Amino acid sequence: VVSIRNLTKRFGKTVVFEDVSLDVHRSEVVAIVGPSGAGKSTLIRCVNRLHPFDEGSLQVLNHQLNKGSQFPSKQVLNDIRTRVGMVFQTFNLFPHLSVLENVILAPIEVKKVPRKQAIQQAMELLDMVGLSEHANKYPKRMSGGQQQRVAIARALAMEPEIMLFDEPTSMLDPELVGEVLDAIQRLAKDGMTLMLVTHEMQFAKEVADTVVIMADHRIIEKGPSREVLENPRTGRAQAFLKRVL
Ligand code: ATP
Ligand code: MG
Repeated sequence: VVSIRNLTKRFGKTVVFEDVSLDVHRSEVVAIVGPSGAGKSTLIRCVNRLHPFDEGSLQVLNHQLNKGSQFPSKQVLNDIRTRVGMVFQTFNLFPHLSVLENVILAPIEVKKVPRKQAIQQAMELLDMVGLSEHANKYPKRMSGGQQQRVAIARALAMEPEIMLFDEPTSMLDPELVGEVLDAIQRLAKDGMTLMLVTHEMQFAKEVADTVVIMADHRIIEKGPSREVLENPRTGRAQAFLKRVL
C-alpha cells in the first residue's frame, strides 16, 4: 500500500536522506529505527505529504505522488490525510475540547459522519484504548500515556487504512510507555498497516514484521525484524544497535 522508490529529500542544500526505497504491504508492521537526525521523521512525513520530496517516487494507496514542485491537488492531499492517520511524539490534543470531543471532531467536520454515530464509534475506540471512563475529561487532567492513547483513538476515528507513528512513547515516563505500546500492538494484531518510528527495540523485535535502520542519510539495513536486530550485517548497524540495545 506504500511504495517508496529512490526517494531523496533535501532541506535547501542539506541532504536528509538519499535513494531510499521501501515497500509496505497491507497489514505489515514496519519499524523505522536509527540515530537522531537520520531522517526517520522526515521519511514518514513524506508518506502523508506533510513534506514534499526532491527525487524518486512515492505511491501511497492508489495515489502516485511526484517529486518537487508538482504538488498533488488539494483533493488528493485530503484523501491521503483522511486515509493515512498519524500520531506524533507530542499528543497535540485540542486542550479546550474533552476527550470525546477530540475524537469526534474530525469525523463530523471532515467526513460528515452524523454526530450520534460519531459518538458511538468514538466510545468504541476509547474502550479499545482503555479510556471509556475518561470520555468527558479534558486532556490536561490526564497522564501523558492517557493523552497519547486519546491521540491514537482520535486518529483511528477517521478509519485510516495506514497509521504512521513518530516516536509515540518517547515523551512518556517509563511506566506509561507500556500502555501506549499495548494499544499499538492491538492495532497490529487487528491487521492495521503500520509505519512506526521508535526507539523501543524490544517492541520492534516482537511486533514489527520488518525493521528498517536509517543512518548516514540512507537505509543501511532492512529485513525481518529479528534478523535485522539480532544479526545486523553492516558494521554501521551493529554499532548503532550496540548503543541502543
Ligand atoms: P530524531 O530521532 O531526533 O527524531 P530523525 O531521524 O527523525 O531524528 P529528522 O527529524 O527527520 O530526523 O531530521 C533529519 C535531518 O533533517 C536533521 O538533520 C534535521 O536537522 C533536518 N531537518 C528536519 N526538518 C527540517 C526542516 N523543516 N528544515 C530544515 N532541516 C530540517
Ligand atoms: Mg524524529
